[in-house]
Amino acid sequence: MKILILGAGGFIGVNLTERLLREGIHKITAVDIEKDKLQEVGVFDDPRLRYLHLDIRKDNDTLEQETKDHDLVIDLVALANPALYVTDPLGVFKLNFTENLKIVEYCVKHEKRIIQFSTCEVYGMTAASVVGKDPGEMPCPFIEDETPMIMGPIKNHRWIYACAKQLLERVLHAYGLQYDLKYTVIRPFNFIGPRIDYLPSEKAGNPRVFSHFMNALLYGTPMRLVDGGKAYRAYTIIDDAVDCMVRIIENPDGVCDKQIFNIGTPENEITIKEMAYLMRDIFDENFRQDGDPFPEIISVPSEEFYGKGYEDCDRRIADITKATELLGWKPTHDLRSVIYKTMEYFVDQHRAKQRRHETASAPSPATEAVSAPVRKRRLGEEVPSR
Ligand code: UDP
Repeated sequence: MKILILGAGGFIGVNLTERLLREGIHKITAVDIEKDKLQEVGVFDDPRLRYLHLDIRKDNDTLEQETKDHDLVIDLVALANPALYVTDPLGVFKLNFTENLKIVEYCVKHEKRIIQFSTCEVYGMTAASVVGKDPGEMPCPFIEDETPMIMGPIKNHRWIYACAKQLLERVLHAYGLQYDLKYTVIRPFNFIGPRIDYLPSEKAGNPRVFSHFMNALLYGTPMRLVDGGKAYRAYTIIDDAVDCMVRIIENPDGVCDKQIFNIGTPENEITIKEMAYLMRDIFDENFRQDGDPFPEIISVPSEEFYGKGYEDCDRRIADITKATELLGWKPTHDLRSVIYKTMEYFVDQHRAKQRRHETASAPSPATEAVSAPVRKRRLGEEVPSR
């Protein structure tokens, strides 16, 4: 197939592009306005890859022509970061709905299959939270074609992202019904892994929780638990997620047509508070070097951390029965290894940066000592119980 990957330069896109090229079956056009991460994984020498610097908001003619020229469109273009849902709700709506709708409509017009990345946030909050129960007390797996979607009031504009994605899914479904559009929706549940995000000490902005905690471990700022860190998340390593995506792309006998898939690891659940302590322990055991700071863990109100309009998703567990039954997919990494591998990536990047800095500022690079390589130990210990 000729595959058009829109948003190929982001965390999911770069991991997916790398895997597809490694498998060597398809030709890829990677579209993005950023190419740093693609460069980092060294895919530019591959003759099966064509990189196209295109802002999908600006050049509709090229976007339409590219859609026409490919067999499959994978749409990963998104602003997917809770801090942005609060600070730039209109920007989030326009990109995640209006611009993405345009891509869907090109696919309808040119009869192309589309894989649309959505979000687990379309499910919103759990029923337990609505009736005032601790979400931990009620099992509540989110099932693609059954679970109702519960969101907070309009004044909590954090939900604009979830609503935009939900509406896009509803439009895809309607195009499937009325125009026979071959679409597949993917709802990712908290993917982490190499190339995920940036550290706030190294780049301005407010990234996701994992990067904040890594920043604290590497730079000694506090690990901040928003509203005490009582929300639950279940983490999936990007490699497992990409494995499922590849099966969806192959689409044996059309099983993925007009289907929505959760991709997640329900067993890898942890509260954010537990994760802070676990990450600090893993750092101490495996990565700490002399002189590394030891961050404190503190609670902060969500309004102070994000601003007005934030409301949390209390708990998200993916029901992955559909992916298992239709695609034979199951995630293979437990929570500790998912967290360890992602931490290892951040630590390696950070130490490499430190070495470059030390080498650059040394009077004679040949004689200057560099920081010791990352100390790694075997995985093994159980995650602390809740
Ligand atoms: N969070 C936190 N400390 C941080 C950043 C986020 O406690 O430094 C919380 C946030 O309120 C949410 C969870 O961690 O409960 C996950 O946040 P993330 O930014 O990863 O995005 P989400 O999973 O909500 O999409």
